[in-house]
Amino acid sequence: MQVAVVGGGLCGLAAALTAAEGGAETVLLEAGALADGGSGRNGGQVVPGWSRGAADLRQRYGDDRARALLILADQARAWLLATIARLAIDVDWQPHYLFAAIHQHHHADLDRDVAAHAALGLPPPVLWDSRQISAAIGTARYSAALHYPDGGHLHPGRLCQGLAAAAIAAGAHLFCHSPVLRLTGSGPFELATPHGSLQAERVILACDAAAGQFHPSLAGRTLSLVSAVMATQPLATPPMAAPWAVADSAHQIDYFRQTGDGRLVYGGLARFDDRVPRDVVAALRRLLRRTYPALADTAVSHAWHGRIAATACRLPLLAEPVPGLFAALGFSGQGVCLAPYAGLLMARAAVLAHSLPDDWTTLPHRWVPQGALGRGIGALVGLWYGAVDGLLLATARRPR
Ligand SMILES: Cc1cc2nc3c(=O)[nH]c(=O)nc-3n(C[C@H](O)[C@H](O)[C@H](O)COP(=O)(O)OP(=O)(O)OC[C@H]3O[C@@H](n4cnc5c(N)ncnc54)[C@H](O)[C@@H]3O)c2cc1C
Repeated sequence: MQVAVVGGGLCGLAAALTAAEGGAETVLLEAGALADGGSGRNGGQVVPGWSRGAADLRQRYGDDRARALLILADQARAWLLATIARLAIDVDWQPHYLFAAIHQHHHADLDRDVAAHAALGLPPPVLWDSRQISAAIGTARYSAALHYPDGGHLHPGRLCQGLAAAAIAAGAHLFCHSPVLRLTGSGPFELATPHGSLQAERVILACDAAAGQFHPSLAGRTLSLVSAVMATQPLATPPMAAPWAVADSAHQIDYFRQTGDGRLVYGGLARFDDRVPRDVVAALRRLLRRTYPALADTAVSHAWHGRIAATACRLPLLAEPVPGLFAALGFSGQGVCLAPYAGLLMARAAVLAHSLPDDWTTLPHRWVPQGALGRGIGALVGLWYGAVDGLLLATARRPR
């Protein structure tokens, strides 16, 4: 069995590893360098669940599917951590994740999520008050939060390197700077690159939004937004009592974490017009100042940005649009956990004829405006979100 994987991010690397370990002749084609996309540029947060909370999932999809989706996400997290341990990848894994409310109006949403977990018979996150938050992460900014002991954070670059090394060791062939230009045929498929073409019985599209060019049912399903991250030098006195991951409830979400060596990795700036801020560090410092005023001028060692593909419903699309052709895209800000798991599921389907989970593959995904229209609407949505977040931040009660 020949399997071709298109894309060398977390999804593609996990797919290549699984296919090669399953005995398939596996070739991965990556347009640039490995982990050139979001997989090498993300904030490293291992976020429990999906981009929508449990209460929202229940309301949209009903109890049975909400439960099934949450169980799938938990399996994704468990598989990722077990794989990291099995392959002995040094990712600086740090457990514990807080989802923090930027405004008292969001407390009810946190309550709803706790209640939804309980109603679905799943272990709920724990609701924390401002004193607990401030003792754990050293900021008085947040008045309530959900604590997920099973979430956490890791070094995403090292995770990609480790998965790539394991895939190669299992017999997969990984080719960088080999963009797939065309995909034709129907098992065997033919993949054309600038350097030549390749035949494969199964194809796994792990190239995120770019999958749209290979099958019409995948086109126009995601919008792209820009997000940026910076890492400080190791701090003499890190702000958190223990190295945790935090994300907040703003539309233009702040996400940050403290690494094992005492750096603060701070991300945010969701830009829906797909534009990169001129000075990423200055823009991120403004966010950092809100959370840790004393650290706003701290020396920064690294800063970067990347593009996040999100579907309209914010849950990723997983599909087998024609027999033997698999695709997963639009992981939003949840790809560290879900993208490699989607790669695993697709490779198992391709090589071992396992079924893809219906609760995921049958999620409806609407068309999203593309090109200049998409960017224009994105700019308006960004302005609206910025205004709402600004109002909430200005009127938030500071915990005493
Ligand atoms: C700044 C930022 C912060 C983020 N923070 C987090 C976070 O903290 N937690 C979290 O869970 N998620 C986060 N995300 C999202 C997460 O990184 C992504 O959802 C995830 O990496 C998607 O993985 P992927 O393998 O599907 O796609 P990608 O990593 O985008 O990989 C796709 C690959 O396909 C390649 N490709 C494209 N077209 C072709 C072609 N024609 N031929 C061959 N190769 C092709 C690309 O070059 C790319 O390397 C963040 C993303 C960004 C950008």
